Amino acid sequence: NISGKTVVITGSNSGIGLGVAHEFAKAGAHIVLNSFSDRDEDHALAEALGKEHGVTARYIQADMSKSDQCRALIEKAGTCDILVNNAGIQHVAAIPDFPVEKWDAIIAINMSSAFHTTAAALPVMRKAGWGRVINIASAHGLTASPFKSAYVAAKHGVIGLTKVTALETAEEPITANAVCPGYVLTPLVESQIPDTMKEYNMDRDTVIREVLLKRQPSKQFATVEQLGGTCVFLSSDAAAQITGTTISVDGGWTAL
Ligand code: NAD
Repeated sequence: NISGKTVVITGSNSGIGLGVAHEFAKAGAHIVLNSFSDRDEDHALAEALGKEHGVTARYIQADMSKSDQCRALIEKAGTCDILVNNAGIQHVAAIPDFPVEKWDAIIAINMSSAFHTTAAALPVMRKAGWGRVINIASAHGLTASPFKSAYVAAKHGVIGLTKVTALETAEEPITANAVCPGYVLTPLVESQIPDTMKEYNMDRDTVIREVLLKRQPSKQFATVEQLGGTCVFLSSDAAAQITGTTISVDGGWTAL
């Protein structure tokens, strides 16, 4: 039932967003990729994705830190059966030292953008008579860590927004859920490994096991394919009565 549907994925020119795009394209959905940049390689990425899976794939530039651009992304997409709010950034600092502009950017990109895209997408979904809103939250939407105040606040906020979206669409064929990944080995995480190896004087495997995956009982990263598969499942008929909830893909992190 996903074949032929259009999926708009925010922040999807790398990492989890791009992985989610691949899984939806494999299932026959048309794809709208997005980020704030407007490089030839962004458009080439969409073209390659479309060719690989025989679907329509477009790249639409929009900065998710700007409310008007969030809404314009949905307008430019024209149709939006499935909305995946994935764009996100991180900054690590103690609360008294946390830069105000970083707090504002994280709240805007990781939380408020989902409000704006959802506001623009719900009327489109209602017109089409079907819809799915999937918010990529985090294990940090359910638990906390020190020095990640803005990220943890934004991710908890996104889960609250997900519940409200579900209640406002409860009697319609629209669902809203949050996916909560634990650690995923995206380029973002990969790039932290060399410095952490030096900092702790550990080899790569020990850094992964003892530092990065300290709170992930499975001692394995979740993969972008697993996250994409979870999003595809949430878009299936089997998931039609799953709404307003969270699905953790975290190797047992939140069971601790
Ligand atoms: P990533 O850095 O690879 O991807 C982030 C994406 O967001 C990129 O495509 C980037 O271009 C885009 N983006 C950043 N700022 C933007 C802006 N202003 N406008 C539009 N797009 C913007 O990181 P990722 O690990 O793939 O993270 C994706 C999502 O998953 C984030 O919301 C993140 O919080 C969440 N998450 C990641 C992990 C992990 O371990 N990697 C764990 C839990 C949750």
